Amino acid sequence: MGKALIIGCGGVASVAIHKCCQNSEVFEEICIASRTVSKCEALKEKLQRTTKTKITTAQVDADDVDQLIALIKKEKPQLVLNLALPYQDLTIMDACLATGVHYVDTANYEPEDTAKFEYKWQWAYRERFEKAGITALLGSGFDPGVTSVFSAYALKHYFDEINYIDILDCNAGDHGYPFATNFNPEINIREVSAKGSYWEDGHWVETEPMEIKRVYNFPQIGEKDMYLLHHEEIESLALNIPGIKRIRFFMTFGESYLTHLKCLENVGMTSIEPIVYEGKEIIPLQFLKAVLPDPSSLGPRTKGKTNIGCIFIGKKDGKEKKLYIYNVCDHESCYKEVGSQAVAYTTGVPAMIGAMMILNGTWNKAGVYNIEEFDPDPFMEALNRWGLPWVIEENPTLVD
Ligand code: NDP
Repeated sequence: MGKALIIGCGGVASVAIHKCCQNSEVFEEICIASRTVSKCEALKEKLQRTTKTKITTAQVDADDVDQLIALIKKEKPQLVLNLALPYQDLTIMDACLATGVHYVDTANYEPEDTAKFEYKWQWAYRERFEKAGITALLGSGFDPGVTSVFSAYALKHYFDEINYIDILDCNAGDHGYPFATNFNPEINIREVSAKGSYWEDGHWVETEPMEIKRVYNFPQIGEKDMYLLHHEEIESLALNIPGIKRIRFFMTFGESYLTHLKCLENVGMTSIEPIVYEGKEIIPLQFLKAVLPDPSSLGPRTKGKTNIGCIFIGKKDGKEKKLYIYNVCDHESCYKEVGSQAVAYTTGVPAMIGAMMILNGTWNKAGVYNIEEFDPDPFMEALNRWGLPWVIEENPTLVD
């Protein structure tokens, strides 16, 4: 069917690349390009004997638009799947515009020096993508991504109107380390140490970090503490789900994680302000990343499950209706299948599916779109087929 250029070769990309190679009918060719080309070559070496997908590799600095344009011109993909870091979103979108190639990512743009993620920078590309006749699909991971598709699916099939959405992200995996992050430590710590916020009655309500705590009994997992965080899909769902009154996002954290994080914060290790150390400028959070376990090394050690989903409250035929859609994923099964733990798996699988939807023309409209703006049905079907089956529960326990 076509060729994708995949940028980045970390935890999430590795899963997406495994999945593309399982799906050679759609991904006839892929080029894996990243800053450290040896990682791309090692993955190619591992996968090329197992797949019909033709794999090439390349070195690229995705902060450099000219390098990206030259690579796209050389490789001639129909689509670029951006699995590098949120800092590279705009340079990669610029290169896609210059070359007329579709764009897919899993996280919205964040300037490296402000730790503030919002869609405004990427939404500003709408007209240019429309004019160029190409698609940018934003947020094709799990959250954002699958949670947004769950919302579109619930609205399409179960509700006349959705008024409340609670997105619940539970990771009950245990990797045995006192402190480690499940995906890129810098991005993860920036996200969880920021102020919380939720959307209510047409505006943002801001909270202190970890100020709002709830306990929820997760299906197939049990009771866990969870905390309200700001999360990027709230911004687009608030616009795309008509009749919405409130959207909140909760993530589970264990006590050990939170105690370590507090301590690291208190001593200044999570700061993104540069400091001078022995004559050289360093950013404390980047230094911390260098000493923490690499998320990709957690795979063989992690046991337990994730449960990520959405609880919806709304109206159907004039009556109140409650629905919970979720996926449960097992860390050890993921490791057995693709050599990664479930956090990378639950992001990498939808990244492949989003790219497939665009590459095979199932989703076909020019412009810049969040994932809930497309027909959710084919994506929901693909989740079942490609390793993230979902469950629908009527009348779930609600979060107060
Ligand atoms: P990793 O740090 O494991 O991987 C990032 C990859 O990008 C590395 O291969 C890195 O190269 C490469 N990279 C970084 N900067 C550049 C650059 N300038 N040029 C080229 N390559 C570069 O991150 P993850 O795999 O954990 O996360 C990937 C993305 O997925 C992030 O944007 C993250 O926010 C997002 N994500 C989304 C989720 C969702 O549900 N929507 C959930 C989890 C993550 P190198 O090897 O040289 O460092």
